[in-house]
Amino acid sequence: MTDTLHIVCPHCHTTNRVRTDQLGSAPDCGSCHQHLFAGRSVALNESAFDRHIARNEIPVLVDFWAPWCGPCRQMAPGFEAAAARLEPRVRLAKVDTEAVPALGARFNIRSIPTLALFKGGREIARQAGAMGSADIVRWAEAQLR
Ligand code: ZN
Repeated sequence: MTDTLHIVCPHCHTTNRVRTDQLGSAPDCGSCHQHLFAGRSVALNESAFDRHIARNEIPVLVDFWAPWCGPCRQMAPGFEAAAARLEPRVRLAKVDTEAVPALGARFNIRSIPTLALFKGGREIARQAGAMGSADIVRWAEAQLR
């Protein structure tokens, strides 16, 4: 029996079944044929968020941010660099709490940026405050150890 994982496409949000031994081989989405892992974070609205959190069988690291927040904008390039390093073990996603206030309210986000790590459909760790790329990677790996 070959192990497979459900991976939600960051482009069309279709759930794909990917063999674990193919995760690192740039798998494509069966529906839209784009790369399932592009080394970039995925911006999520509420319905896409629910789908990614519920269906991904890899952890999802979410950056709750807002366009008016200076530290959030400063952290953005580091978060993208972390995506390139953490994929395909972890999916990185961004939630704009100004555009999607319902998610900020649901998770009681008190300050931004806040990183929250989800695994198996639930939040397992949270960290407030801006971090550089290396610290984001270290923090996520420490939570998943
Ligand atoms: Zn797709």
